[in-house]
Amino acid sequence: MRTLKTQVGIVGAGPAGLLLAHLLRLEGIDAVVLEAKSRQYVEERIRAGVLEQGTIDLLNEAGVGQRMMAQGLPHTGIELLFDRQRHRIDLSELTGGRQIMVYGQHEVVKDLIHARLAASAPLLFGVEDVRVADFGSSAPKLLARHEGEEFEWTCDFIAGCDGFHGVCRDALPDSARTVFERVYPFAWLGILVKAPPASDELIYASHENGFALFSMRSPEITRLYLQCSPDDDLANWPNERIWSELDSRLATDDGWQPNVGEIIQKGITPMRSFVCETMQSGRLFLAGDAAHIVPPTGAKGMNLAVSDIRYLSRALTSYYRTGDETGLLHYSTTCLKRIWRAEHFSWWMTSMLHRFFDHSPFEQRIQRAELNYFSTSRAGRTAIAENYVGLPWTD
Ligand SMILES: Cc1cc2nc3c(=O)[nH]c(=O)nc-3n(C[C@H](O)[C@H](O)[C@H](O)COP(=O)(O)OP(=O)(O)OC[C@H]3O[C@@H](n4cnc5c(N)ncnc54)[C@H](O)[C@@H]3O)c2cc1C
Repeated sequence: MRTLKTQVGIVGAGPAGLLLAHLLRLEGIDAVVLEAKSRQYVEERIRAGVLEQGTIDLLNEAGVGQRMMAQGLPHTGIELLFDRQRHRIDLSELTGGRQIMVYGQHEVVKDLIHARLAASAPLLFGVEDVRVADFGSSAPKLLARHEGEEFEWTCDFIAGCDGFHGVCRDALPDSARTVFERVYPFAWLGILVKAPPASDELIYASHENGFALFSMRSPEITRLYLQCSPDDDLANWPNERIWSELDSRLATDDGWQPNVGEIIQKGITPMRSFVCETMQSGRLFLAGDAAHIVPPTGAKGMNLAVSDIRYLSRALTSYYRTGDETGLLHYSTTCLKRIWRAEHFSWWMTSMLHRFFDHSPFEQRIQRAELNYFSTSRAGRTAIAENYVGLPWTD
């Protein structure tokens, strides 16, 4: 067994773990990042694609925003489509100039990996059997196997950034863990299409057949989603059925249609709201999907991971600079305020835009009235806009 020391042991090289390692390095704090998958796997994993204003600003301030600013697609609005009519939500005008950036999560991950490896800072891929221990003490341990060899890191702190299926959340004692969860009666079928996006802005469509979303990843790649059954199988979705459903659900009276092209990737994502309270025990801290999940309708998943890391990196920096533990002691409480705001917005957008097949005709009319109000009233559009671009940091 090789024994090593570091200040912060980080489990997971998703956006949360990599960003934490990067922000700590800028402050001269040592960390090791342990990732179960290969570098190629995490760099090609297609997930979120909408960055809030606060995320854009943070990546720029941290010096990893150059490629995002050059290749990302800044957006100042989104559209809601129902009854064949498009309604624009002018994000910038309604929020005093704030905007979003469409830039794939995997591109953010590539930028952060590049920065870490360029600095020759420790980042191990293909790590097996990661365990956390002794986090109730002042010397928590991170144990793992890498390339056949057993390792043990003695750390000051451990950050569990290992996603929803990681090991860190389960390591919290039962007394520190209360779970709040909602599973939705539908999922999203997502496709990547080799075709230029036919609109410059995202279009969220509510239709009697189910929800659809028009989106994009780059000037050459369109990203489209269809509400499907939670136990659906990709075999049920041949290309002809996908295009036919997109034709119906995205149909408009003005004749707009997405561009058709080769489907280069298909996948089904379940929809869940999930929060684990608390997000810390002793010297183990959870961040990102390890602690919470939102349905993707509000585009909040990766942005929330970034928000947790902003708080955790500041708390750790303050501890190492001055010995002040206040930020660490209040980490979970501070994060959870923003998390529950995003949980509500994601649940609400999901509830307003999806088809619930068990809804009565009364409930369907109520849902349509809500959508109509929030699309056409300035107050309604402002509520959507300020949540969508992300509320400004208050601390
Ligand atoms: C299929 C899918 C599609 C999504 N689409 C969207 C979207 O369109 N919009 C949106 O806003 N959000 C979306 N999300 C959510 C968003 O991608 C996440 O919120 C974001 O990835 C959170 O980042 P993270 O770093 O916390 O977790 P992750 O990105 O999950 O990173 C965790 C990392 O930990 C690693 N890991 C896990 N277990 C271990 C272990 N035992 N040891 C070592 N490493 C481990 C994993 O391999 C992974 O690299 C999607 C999520 C999924 C799963």
